[in-house]
Amino acid sequence: MSSVLVTGANRGIGLGLTRHLLADPSVAIVIATARNVDTATELNDLKSPKLHIIQLEAVNEDSIANAANKVAEIVGDNGLDILINNAGVAWKMPLSEPIPMAKLNEQLQVNTVAPLIIANKFYPLLKKTAAKKGSAQIAIISSTGGSLETAPMVPKEMPLTGYFMSKAAVNMLTRRISIEWKDENIRATCFCPGWVKTDMGSERAQLTVDESTIPLTKLILSLTEEHNGKYYRYNGETIPW
Ligand code: NDP
Repeated sequence: MSSVLVTGANRGIGLGLTRHLLADPSVAIVIATARNVDTATELNDLKSPKLHIIQLEAVNEDSIANAANKVAEIVGDNGLDILINNAGVAWKMPLSEPIPMAKLNEQLQVNTVAPLIIANKFYPLLKKTAAKKGSAQIAIISSTGGSLETAPMVPKEMPLTGYFMSKAAVNMLTRRISIEWKDENIRATCFCPGWVKTDMGSERAQLTVDESTIPLTKLILSLTEEHNGKYYRYNGETIPW
């Protein structure tokens, strides 16, 4: 039985992952984070005895540290089996128009810096599980937009270069964790959820939240050593770096 934490769980893909994790009999504890717990209505409505909802603001180091302390209390000596870094933002900033540097920095903080700080602060809990059960897992929800190889296939009109940069960098975080913490059996894998109908993906997207998060949840729960440091679509296809 495992414990899983999902960031940005109050809506979109994070909420979908939380729902399907709660429904999976192999998962005993689901810790769902939201920036504002009080207004996370759909998350609060899930009301499962497995579910713990805690506050986590990705651009606030103290908030991340407090969340790690709370998770330590919830999971106790068992540590944390799976950490899913899902919270993210995608802000349209066309390259040829004026770009506010603070906005670009904030996007990078949420999508790239926070996953590193979260991994860093949750490291003791992941290490505990890895030592006890043989492995722990970090799943990073990235995007195919972070792939250097497939960049030429993305239409040049897409005003998301800053977002794509942030996902390319978080892919490097995945690779580095898979190398630096390999001997401690803490593994890292990154994923693209597909183009999903959420606030970020818009109604025009190809997949419903369930069409993405049902297979994605299964994939995350079935990760083994062979997946360490790799990059997958929600349906298990590999993505070129
Ligand atoms: P949504 O915009 O629907 O949800 C984003 C989630 O991230 C919300 O829970 C939001 O919380 C949270 N979040 C944003 N900023 C912060 C922050 N500073 N601190 C903590 N939480 C924050 O996006 P999706 O569900 O679509 O996206 C989830 C992940 O999937 C992202 O990493 C995204 O890049 C990735 N992805 C999505 C695709 C899609 O088509 N939808 C395609 C490829 C990748 P709040 O409600 O408080 O703002």
